Order: sequence, then structure tokens, then C-alpha cells
Amino acid sequence: MGGPLITGKVLFPSFANWIVWCQKQQHRCKFYDNRHANRKCVSQHFQVMNLRDGTVALQEGKPGEMTCKSQRLMLLTGLICPASPGCYHYMPYTVRSMEKLIKLIDQEMQAVGGQKLNMPTLCSAELWRASERWELMGNELFRLTDRHNKQFCLGPTHEEAITNLIASQSYLSHKQLPLLLYQVTRKFRDEPKPRFGLLRGREFYMKDMYTFDASKEAALKTYALVCNAYYNILNRLGLPFVKVQAATGNIGGTLSHEFQLPADIGEDQLMICTNCDFSANTETIDPSKVHCPVCEGKLMEKRGIEVGHTFYLGTKYSSVFNTLVNTAENKPVMAEMGCYGLGVSRILAASIEVLSTEDAIRWPNLIAPYQICLIPPKRGSKEEKGAMLVEELYDSIAQAVPHLIDEIVLDDRTELTIGKRLKDADKRGYPYVIIAGKKIVDVPSLFEVRNQNTGEILFLTREAIVDLLSKVHTS
Ligand SMILES: [Zn+2]
Repeated sequence: MGGPLITGKVLFPSFANWIVWCQKQQHRCKFYDNRHANRKCVSQHFQVMNLRDGTVALQEGKPGEMTCKSQRLMLLTGLICPASPGCYHYMPYTVRSMEKLIKLIDQEMQAVGGQKLNMPTLCSAELWRASERWELMGNELFRLTDRHNKQFCLGPTHEEAITNLIASQSYLSHKQLPLLLYQVTRKFRDEPKPRFGLLRGREFYMKDMYTFDASKEAALKTYALVCNAYYNILNRLGLPFVKVQAATGNIGGTLSHEFQLPADIGEDQLMICTNCDFSANTETIDPSKVHCPVCEGKLMEKRGIEVGHTFYLGTKYSSVFNTLVNTAENKPVMAEMGCYGLGVSRILAASIEVLSTEDAIRWPNLIAPYQICLIPPKRGSKEEKGAMLVEELYDSIAQAVPHLIDEIVLDDRTELTIGKRLKDADKRGYPYVIIAGKKIVDVPSLFEVRNQNTGEILFLTREAIVDLLSKVHTS
């Protein structure tokens, strides 16, 4: 505790003497203390600090250009940093959140038998010519030529690559079916107008799964299985969504659905029946229709952000690459395929879009970058001795609730008031914020515990907090 790290009186030591100096100065050097004790401190985190500047100037786009809530909040809190139009640096908090999301997706994909692989970003033009998409995709493809004059594109999707990969193997045995292969990789699309931050970029993360079956009947079963996994993912995230019938676009096939999060800034127009389960992207129905084609009920219009898209492809690609699989009777047949996309970086931004308030981020609990933010008293305040109690609380949580060890941050910027740091924590959206406020000097010491998602505020002892947090799930 004590005074600031560097004052007019204490000069910064030479680098070589830094650790020795810190050891001597332990009583005044919080930085050394907390790092030494393996506590994660806000002051050490690499963050693009826009928070202090209340009216964040969006460092991109032209004046008057349309932005959206998630883009504004993600720039404001330094979650993303613009690199070039439609491309962003994902800062450490965002990467933490995305890794949690990918873990959750892995669990649900593997629960239905998915096997994860990783295909090259550089996709050979030859394959794309074979499927006739080299021309069809027009300017959306990022194209490049290597030193041997061979043409490639940066993959926006991998139907060609995987269908060719499977074709290059001798026929898949019946025992391997259904075969469900997926990857989570960067994808590229040369958007004419990239906008809305991570919602419509030119470079993004996608989970794409491709499935192979020996009959249409089996392929439709697999289709239902993967759709069900998508329900689980979105339900576990606590995101409201609708599954709508969709157009097949330049992917092709005969049956397709989108998973949409209702939101005003959504780019898709949806028609949802007020009476039955029917819902559709308007591009699949006559837009002048006001009655449900299934039950004649009234149709309601809504806008949505597409976060997932599923396709039953039939033999569209397998027939091009001659991809055969074996039936139970050991007869080779053309593979019946499906493909299933899930926008990983888009889900991050879309969940911020639908859950946050105008000026504070709210995350799905499972993918918040950190679960808990601890705020010790301001340096020099009456409650200053509470700082030690906050550090003890940190260590107690880490010890008693091992799955939260990596989920706590200490906002050690004690030169700032509690109010200022609380405001930052609120904007960043930690599900739990714990403050050493006025009641920290009570006997027994009470911490202020804020559940940011429910708005509930409790005053609790250290033991009661550990008990409460032991019920927090991180997976
Ligand atoms: Zn209906």
C-alpha cells in the first residue's frame, strides 16, 4: 500500500535493479506484490483504453456512417481495434471470450459425433472451377496468384476442399457413417461494404461442419441432429433465437435453415407466424404475403442477425468430385452431404448487441472474458486498509473454487475512485463485481457484491462470497 509507485522523490531504478528494488519496496509496490502472488491485475492488462474518454471517437469510417451498439461498445471498451476496413485486432479479452465460445461449440459438435480438423486457408482455384463457384462468387472471393502462377482464393467456405479430400480416400466404410467433420478457422469475404464491427467483416471466424451419409434419409437424420446441437449452443448461451427456413444461395442444396437472433439492426427480414411454428427469411416467400402458408395465421415481421446456417446439399458437391461412400450392403454410392456454418466472431458481437444496454456490455455468462472483478478502496481513503482484505478474498476464491482461479481480475488502479472503477467494470460487463466499499470497515467486514446480470446487490462476508461463487458455472 502506501504512496504512488513513482513520485517526485522516488526515481525509477535501472532495469537490472528492478526486482531487488521491488523486493525492498514491497510495502509500497502493489504491482510487484500482486504479480508475485499470481493475481491478475487490471493495471497489467494490455487494453486499448478508450474508456476514460467518455465520447469515444470511432477511429474508423466516415462521419455519419452507420454504426451499431456492439461495434460502439466493443471499440469503447477496447475489445477490438480497427486495422483496415472490415478487419480488426481482437484484443486479449475478446480472445478469452472467443476461446470459451469455441470450447462450448466443440462440446456440442463432438456430442453429436463431430471430429475436428483444420483445412488450409489457401484454396486452389482448380477445385473452385470444378464446382463452377470460381466464376459464381464474383468479387466476393479474395483471389491471389503464387510464384508459379497458380491461382488460389482465401477460403470463405470449404465444400470443395473437404469433398475433394474425402474423394481422395478409398470409399468410406459404412462404419464411419455418418461422418461429421468440422473446423473453426478464419474465413475471408471481400464485402463491398464491411460494417457493424465484427458483425459483417471481411475476415472472420466461422465454425463449418460437413457431413457425409449413404442415403438421403440418413443425411436428413444427420441434419436434424446438427440443428439440435445448434439449439443447445444458443440455449446454453441464453440467447433468444428463431430458426427460419432460408434460401440456399450460392452454397446450393435443397433444404436450408438459418438461426437468427432478433435485433433491429439485423440485415435479414423475417416473417414469423403468430399462430404456429412457421418462420422464414422473406427471401424464401412472397414478400407481399401476410398470411402463414401453413396455417393461414397472421405473419409478423422482424429483423434478425444470422448466426447459423444449415444446408442439406444432397449430391451437389459429391457428384462433382466423385465422392463415394459405402452402404451397409457394401455398395458404393454418391455421398449425401450437409454443411453447417456458425459465425463464431459474429455470435460474440451479436450477443453483445442483443444483451447489452446502450452504454454497458452484457455477456452470456459462459463466455464473459472474466467472471469476477474485485475493486479495492482508493489509495489514501478511510477504507484503505480494506485493500488487504480484497487480496485475501481473491486468494480465498482461487483456493476454494479452483475453476474460478483464472476468472478473477483485481482492479488495482487504486489511484482512481471506486466509483470510476465501478463504471469501467460495469461497461466491460463482468458478471460479478465485488467492491470494498464503506462496509469493509464494519465488524465483520462486508463486501458489496453486484450481480451485473440481475442487478442484485448484496453485502456479504468473505465466507458468504466464496459460498456464492462456488455455484458459478464456467462450462
Ligand atoms: Zn402459421
